[in-house]
Amino acid sequence: MALDAASQVSVGALSAIFDERNPQVQEPIVQCVQIKPLPPQPNHPERYRAVFSDITNYVQTMLATQANHFVTSGMLKKGCFVRLKSFQANSVKGKKILIILDLEVLQELGEAEKIGEPKPLENKSDVEEKPQPTTISSNGFYGSKIQPQRVESGVQPTRSPLASTHATIYPIEYISPFSNKWTIKARCTSKSTIKTWHNRNSEGRLFSVNLLDDSGEIRATGFNEQCDMLYDVFQEGGVYYISTPCRVQIAKKQFTNLNNDYEITFERGTVVEKAEDQSDVPQVRFNFTTVGDLQSVEKDTTIDVVGVLKEVGEISQIVSKSTNKPYDKRELTLVDSSGFSVRLTVWGTTALNFSATPESVIAFKGVKVSDFGGRSLSLLSSGSMTIDPDIEEAHRLKGWYDAQGRHETFSSHASMSSASSSAGKLDRFKTVAQIREEQLGMSDEAAYFSCRATVIYIKQDTICYPACLSQGCNKKVTELDPGQWRCESCDKTHLRPEYRYIMLINVSDHTGQLWLSCFDEVGRQLLGISADELMDMRQSESNLAGEVFQEANCRTWNFRCRAKLDHYGDQPRIRYQVSSAKAINYSEEASRLMNLIQSYNLS
Ligand SMILES: [Zn+2]
Repeated sequence: MALDAASQVSVGALSAIFDERNPQVQEPIVQCVQIKPLPPQPNHPERYRAVFSDITNYVQTMLATQANHFVTSGMLKKGCFVRLKSFQANSVKGKKILIILDLEVLQELGEAEKIGEPKPLENKSDVEEKPQPTTISSNGFYGSKIQPQRVESGVQPTRSPLASTHATIYPIEYISPFSNKWTIKARCTSKSTIKTWHNRNSEGRLFSVNLLDDSGEIRATGFNEQCDMLYDVFQEGGVYYISTPCRVQIAKKQFTNLNNDYEITFERGTVVEKAEDQSDVPQVRFNFTTVGDLQSVEKDTTIDVVGVLKEVGEISQIVSKSTNKPYDKRELTLVDSSGFSVRLTVWGTTALNFSATPESVIAFKGVKVSDFGGRSLSLLSSGSMTIDPDIEEAHRLKGWYDAQGRHETFSSHASMSSASSSAGKLDRFKTVAQIREEQLGMSDEAAYFSCRATVIYIKQDTICYPACLSQGCNKKVTELDPGQWRCESCDKTHLRPEYRYIMLINVSDHTGQLWLSCFDEVGRQLLGISADELMDMRQSESNLAGEVFQEANCRTWNFRCRAKLDHYGDQPRIRYQVSSAKAINYSEEASRLMNLIQSYNLS
């Protein structure tokens, strides 16, 4: 059996794959001599590495994820023989790697011990030093110096430069740090404005584009020189050839709404040219949520939505509390056949240049769901907007609107759940530093926020006050004579008061410290006993009372707070009032932190 199989193997095919000067074997047959899963990474699909031998040589390969099933089904195993149907050759730091896109396990050849003594593919320096496919084309050339084509006598391919540059278009899906030489053909589905930054260490400018092809999407960013050079080249909606060198790295998911593990950074030599033929690259891809379904979408989720434009608001400006910069914004009202309407905010130049007329159909890609006013939407800077797109959903909506939608009335999510929206306001989570930087409570309106902080000090001299015992009064009473506690408010005298907490506590998180004031209910929670009991204890066993404070220190809580401007004489100052305190649920907290850490992709 093994001998039979050996006669089928395409001896020498592997080295030919990496050397264009040798005749290529179409769909070579090789033996699988090793399979290993790559170390798992959270949020990444499982990847497998396989080593294939053609008896003369062996080579490391990576299976593209769509070929994983050959491993998971048990078909591809050590010793078996396969036909490599589709693959991509790469060199990483002089190491040759094949990415296997598709293969066929030749079950009729069975399995065998490793045949022969295959050797690793050697680096042939002449192959290594061959110039990158030099990026020359007759039409539109951007981004890199034209390098003189090195002529190697007799072996120079006679294909035209354009054909050689774009001979193999690489699918976006396969771009990874393992692939170092590629050209993609992709549509620019959105382009950011130029952003500038300056901090202690550096300053500069950058812009990003989202790129789309049949296989997927990826985000690409150009810094400084590449920003200057490429910004005007890209037009939203245009199709481009983009060729290496480009840096590929793990995507920073907190800055993108694309579902790709990697992202690209343009480099000095990156070549971008507009494609003549734009037709074979898909348009923006949508995954629509209906307006009616928004209620069941969690806040902060990024979605796509299509609807009929019912109203267009005037342009207005808001000043961001976190950056102090003014932003232009415009509010739109969208409706669809679910019978619901929703408000959608567009920002910046999209707001300024907004020209769609009411009753147009607009498709939005990349809008963020917020729970302000029940449910509302905000177009992300990485998102895009297409007016009257030529897609089935849009035609269907147009038909529905003309036939009946124009005369319907629509429910807004706001009317359904005003309760959840006010709860949402309270849920805005802030660190101590954010509370100060954003000057929460400095305006006329009170600001609400949550913060998670640890009690580090409780001010003990004024911890509670003697309160009236009358139902619902709680006013402060004064002791006229022993056993004569007078309430001016309800004009009664009580034998004793009921002590109620009015505490100042100092809390801390990793960003700073803050004084919070608490009333009776929160005080009971923090100290674990009532103010009455505490006052009794102070009289009789003052050392025990001290322990109550000791116990309450260094505990961590989720505080819900209200920040409001108070005036003490001429001095305005912000008072932070705790409205409720909740003990930390460590398991919830751990999963929240896990999500946060994953969004930074530090693995
Ligand atoms: Zn009273």
